[in-house]
Amino acid sequence: MTSVLDLARPDLLDLQPYRHARWAPGLERLHANESPWRSAGDDFAGGLNRYPEPQPEALIARLAELYRVAAECVLAGRGSDEAIDLLVRGFCRAGHDAVLVCPPTFGMYKVAAKIQGAAVIEMPLQREQGFSLDAAAVAERVRARDSRIKVVFVCSPNNPTGNLVDPAVIEHLCEALSGRAIVAVDEAYIEFSGTPGMAGRLPWFPNLVILRTLSKAYALAGARCGALLGDPALVEFLRRLMPPYALPSPSIEAALAVLEPSRRAGLEARVQAIAEERGRVAEAMARLAPVRKVWPSAANFLLLDCVDAERCLQAAADAGLLLRDVRRQPELPDALRVTIGTPEQNDRLLHALESV
Ligand SMILES: *Cc1c(COP(=O)(O)O)cnc(C)c1O
Repeated sequence: MTSVLDLARPDLLDLQPYRHARWAPGLERLHANESPWRSAGDDFAGGLNRYPEPQPEALIARLAELYRVAAECVLAGRGSDEAIDLLVRGFCRAGHDAVLVCPPTFGMYKVAAKIQGAAVIEMPLQREQGFSLDAAAVAERVRARDSRIKVVFVCSPNNPTGNLVDPAVIEHLCEALSGRAIVAVDEAYIEFSGTPGMAGRLPWFPNLVILRTLSKAYALAGARCGALLGDPALVEFLRRLMPPYALPSPSIEAALAVLEPSRRAGLEARVQAIAEERGRVAEAMARLAPVRKVWPSAANFLLLDCVDAERCLQAAADAGLLLRDVRRQPELPDALRVTIGTPEQNDRLLHALESV
């Protein structure tokens, strides 16, 4: 039987994880050297004097229900950033293995790889085809005889270009890289795309890993809560590499509150409102002289090619608005990324750009 763990760092496969204090809510805790008293103002349900439950069962169950996967396929962590870091650490030997990224894309993949001492292979998206992924080229690169690529990061919808990667292309990639590399699909913005994402395909592709987060559509960026969805063996492996009490109890409680079924409709309405604003703002931006192109977006932001990005940034700042300068990515000269805000903020930005 082959397993996705054949790709993992061999030196970590038999790692004995730190043995955290037993979680037994029915018993009183004299085993973890905690304070028996809460400090003044500690109104958290679990009490901040206690260590949190590692991989809290209630939260895992809620996330599994939300993403429609089995609970053993869910690893909860401090945002998808932690999942990116764990994947690179678990699968890439320092000074030996590599990750593949498709720029222009989210910067954390490269940073996590560099910290781990993994090489970074870049296979740019095809700008002339709406920043689409050249899956055949990626597969060929990973399958090359000297390839040490262990993790391929695919961001869909991609940050900062906003386009969705065709699920059929991702499936093809998973198949082509089976037994060779993990395909990590970062779906931080999938809720804004009107498509369900790849979670339903997990049972068919053991090398498929999906990164989801509560930071964007669930308005919980400050709580730092995200999930990695993948093969149960992979989830169990990465869980052993994680710090024992990774998720703080206030974050667990905040996530559980937001994921209450009674709040579902309200959240969906907000995502819908952002998607509608995105359409309105994109149309209005496209008519502005300082904007050369508005790229189509399936996320909660727009990528703009500007005539003069510097002047647009300045005009926005004069109106009290901060935009993301993405010109450092060589594929994006004169481009800015604009998050969809409230209608009032969006109007203020449109007005400011009109005057450039
Ligand atoms: C915002 C973002 C994340 C970060 O998510 P956290 O869960 O807040 O760590 C991950 N991936 C992409 C592409 C993002 O834009």
